[in-house]
Amino acid sequence: MFEAMEIAVVLLPVVLVAGMVVRLVARGHTQVLLCMECELCMGACPLCVKRGEAFPGPKGILAAAKTGKVDAAIAAGALDCTSCGACTHVCPRGLAPQREVERWRAEAERVASRHAAEDPA
Ligand code: SF4
Ligand code: SF4
Repeated sequence: MFEAMEIAVVLLPVVLVAGMVVRLVARGHTQVLLCMECELCMGACPLCVKRGEAFPGPKGILAAAKTGKVDAAIAAGALDCTSCGACTHVCPRGLAPQREVERWRAEAERVASRHAAEDPA
């Protein structure tokens, strides 16, 4: 018979993972959950080939969306993604990390225009 503490220890990770899934789905990041981290996309991405580990790459972009470390991915040049679609072409699940980058770019533009409206120089 489980004691209350043991039940809580078993259930806590389940609740945390379920919370993460709900949060990602609610924000439209369903493809993040489908990535199986096979890295096939990394060899196909022209920016990964050119810059190596200096560019987060399609898998890194999805990982950043999943963990919420978007600022770090942007600082590493994620917005330089050209939306060429090479990663989607080789991905066994047809995922499109460039869609995440497009969201981040749109959000950065929204923030910039809000700042410009608040502080017209
Ligand atoms: S190829 Fe697709 S499933 Fe594999 S790591 Fe890249 S995005 Fe994820
Ligand atoms: S769409 Fe972006 S992440 Fe995907 S292969 Fe092209 S440059 Fe790389």
